[in-house]
Amino acid sequence: MPASSQLAKAEHFDVLIAGAGISGIGAAYHLTKQCPDKSFVVLDMQESFGGTWWTHRYPGIRSDSDLHTFGYRFKPWRGPPIATAAEILAYMGEVVEESNLARHIRYRHKILAARWSSQHNFWTIEVSRCDADERLYFTANFLWMCQGYYRHSQGYMPTWPGMDTFKGSLVHSETWPVDLDLKDKKVVVIGSGATAATIIPAIADACAHVTMLQRSPTFFITGRNAIDLAETLRQLQVDEAWIHEIVRRKILFDQATFTRRCHEEPDVVSKELIGAIHNLLGPEYDVETHFTPTYRPWRQRIAFVPDADLFKSIANGKASVVTDQIECFNQAGILLKSGKQLDADIIVAATGFNINVLGDIDFGIDGKPLVFSDTVTYRGMMFTGVPNLAWVFGYFRASWTLRSDLVADFVCRLLKHMDQTGAKRVTVALRSQDLDMPLLSWIDPHSFNPGYIMRSMHLLPKRGDKQEWQHNQDYWSEKDQFPVIDLCDAAFVYA
Ligand SMILES: Cc1cc2nc3c(=O)[nH]c(=O)nc-3n(C[C@H](O)[C@H](O)[C@H](O)COP(=O)(O)OP(=O)(O)OC[C@H]3O[C@@H](n4cnc5c(N)ncnc54)[C@H](O)[C@@H]3O)c2cc1C
Repeated sequence: MPASSQLAKAEHFDVLIAGAGISGIGAAYHLTKQCPDKSFVVLDMQESFGGTWWTHRYPGIRSDSDLHTFGYRFKPWRGPPIATAAEILAYMGEVVEESNLARHIRYRHKILAARWSSQHNFWTIEVSRCDADERLYFTANFLWMCQGYYRHSQGYMPTWPGMDTFKGSLVHSETWPVDLDLKDKKVVVIGSGATAATIIPAIADACAHVTMLQRSPTFFITGRNAIDLAETLRQLQVDEAWIHEIVRRKILFDQATFTRRCHEEPDVVSKELIGAIHNLLGPEYDVETHFTPTYRPWRQRIAFVPDADLFKSIANGKASVVTDQIECFNQAGILLKSGKQLDADIIVAATGFNINVLGDIDFGIDGKPLVFSDTVTYRGMMFTGVPNLAWVFGYFRASWTLRSDLVADFVCRLLKHMDQTGAKRVTVALRSQDLDMPLLSWIDPHSFNPGYIMRSMHLLPKRGDKQEWQHNQDYWSEKDQFPVIDLCDAAFVYA
């Protein structure tokens, strides 16, 4: 606990939003519109807003889902569906500007600790200024966690034998050195996901050759970076707000159809996806080895490759794919389990994230440390025993922001309900009918199982076997359920 003199200087807000990424800026927007009387502050440790889109600087950085649904419900997206980080930042910048949000945001503020006091019914937030040797304190009645799901300072780098013997440069996609010289370099990109698929075509022309080294293949969908319906509606001079809504509905409808097909006829869908890659790479290409995943489509997010750029780079020989495992690094590059040597001047690890549950913040409740994995999730937004806190974790398979908009509506409704009833505290708790409910891992690995989630499952809250106590990944059910959540249900305990 800070000294009482420091606490006396703490600034107080009704709501404190942790993070100024797409979720935090969205939260600030919704709060301004739906709860205009609430005072609030947004804290972010980076120098600007954007989160993911500010952090990642690797060549070609772009969204892998469309911006009609990754964009906010309330702000039309006017560009091509797959957008660069710069375009996403510009879009978010317009939201900040148009709603005058900048005055609420404090950058270079790293939240170190959050302590709840039931005596005072507020959180005390300890912050370190990243640009000054200074500790600051804030108090807030409600904490809105928009901190994302991974550590922004450092990506996940597996350890392989001999890594320190490699004579070239080893870089991680999350901390891409801006001055990395690719000219005439042999580059190996380790990874098979959306990041590897983005970097490879973006650097293929600049370097001597780029190899995608993957342990196992991934599903990809290719297509034009354009939406026919949006183009038609624009030709008809339909209002952009209408286009945004209509195209969102069309995309969501198509995605729902696709998801249903993935469950009902996974083999047919797999065949179609793999067949499309066959057509791009030609009959001689070994699609069986390099682009035939063993998992069922939709157990992991399927990356969209706009204009098939990855496959064009492979087809024209600037890029190639090796499906193998790393035995060890050596001076010249990587020795594979098959015995093959991959020489490299630069090795790029596109190996994913270090999950940081709740922003690496040290949480305490009434003097006791919060063990997040001991809690049970309430619809992936609140946690048993954790008062006045909402957490934003978007969709994995659909666009993240669809969920952050839904959670924002819920939080604003909850805050208004508390004001109307005079409640100062809300905590979710298992009801009598839930007490013998089996407690399971946060996400069902049969439904969704990417590496970064599987590595971190032990850190995440539990789920029950009832809808309320699950972190659903289905926009179609949540969009109807969230607006009618009964705030007087016994799962909400007010004080
Ligand atoms: C390269 C890449 C591409 C992606 N593409 C897509 C896509 O196309 N579609 C999709 O749906 N999803 C995509 N995702 C997932 C993506 O992370 C989310 O969709 C979304 O951007 C997350 O937004 P956020 O605001 O919730 O979190 P983030 O973008 O992670 O932002 C969180 C912010 O909180 C701040 N923060 C965290 N902890 C603290 C702390 N302790 N103190 C102060 N500040 C803190 C961080 O500095 C950061 O600015 C992608 C992810 C990556 C890495």
